[in-house]
Amino acid sequence: MAHFQHSHRAMNEFDLIKNHFAPLAKDFSGSLNLTDDAAIITPPVGCDLVVTKDAMCEGVHFIGHEDAALIAQKLLRVNLSDLAAMGATPLAYLLSLQLPKNTTSDWIKRFANGLLRDQNTFSIHLAGGDTTSNLGPLSCSITAFGTVKTGNALKRSGAKIGDSIYVSGTLGDSALGLKCLLEKHSNPFLEDRYFLPQPRMELGTSLVGIASSAMDISDGLIQDVGHICTASNVGAIIHRELLPLSKAAASMVKNDPNLWEAIYAGGDDYELLFTASDPITINGITRIGEIVSGADVLLKDYENIIAVTRKGFAHF
Ligand SMILES: [Mg+2]
Repeated sequence: MAHFQHSHRAMNEFDLIKNHFAPLAKDFSGSLNLTDDAAIITPPVGCDLVVTKDAMCEGVHFIGHEDAALIAQKLLRVNLSDLAAMGATPLAYLLSLQLPKNTTSDWIKRFANGLLRDQNTFSIHLAGGDTTSNLGPLSCSITAFGTVKTGNALKRSGAKIGDSIYVSGTLGDSALGLKCLLEKHSNPFLEDRYFLPQPRMELGTSLVGIASSAMDISDGLIQDVGHICTASNVGAIIHRELLPLSKAAASMVKNDPNLWEAIYAGGDDYELLFTASDPITINGITRIGEIVSGADVLLKDYENIIAVTRKGFAHF
């Protein structure tokens, strides 16, 4: 991959890298201060390198008028969430930015500041990247690298019949937050959950050796449980009455039961979904169901089976 090549002619490319992006790379020696053709990444001895890439596009993953810092933080956090899902510890990342022609250097400064804030929070560093101008709307992506003890990465494929299914945090806040934003019913808590997901880094690493399978919920609970079931050749029963809800989400669902769909199919939660054979007592996680034989994901409310018309987000 090219190392911060820049072909965005509207701004001085070298100044842009030196002023806004080099400071994000200074604490990672393998970045070579973004002055070489590529970065050098040496994983610690005895570790696997875990690699993930997530992109975000204006109008699909974010609205577009958010503060640039929030867009940057969400982009980094959705990638960190994938590292957490694999039980990995963050190491470094590559950034790719396709900027609309009218992007200002002030916007880039705020974007870089958002990245810096989260780099400090999550101990990850910029190692390189690429920016180009773009005729269309803004799109950006990050490739993130993490480390995990060799052979110990969490995977989707280990769930066994009889395992319990757990999630971290609360579900549906982000989908309901987006709904509030689009419908202009102000709800700062839910909107914040949409703008700034909380990647569960510590939980992810603590599940190594404990969870039989794991992933993060990005597309919607039912669809993502289905991914674990497919990879593990099992089925699942999810108990709706056990799903963890924030106060704000619970009160919206109470007023409009149709909003249950946002809880189990809304997506953008970036909570961890995992299975384990032994009971787990870690703060902030909830048992929501069990792995069964078969291939289907069944949603129940106590004994009643709920027909699921939408399982999650579909891009195509
Ligand atoms: Mg994921």
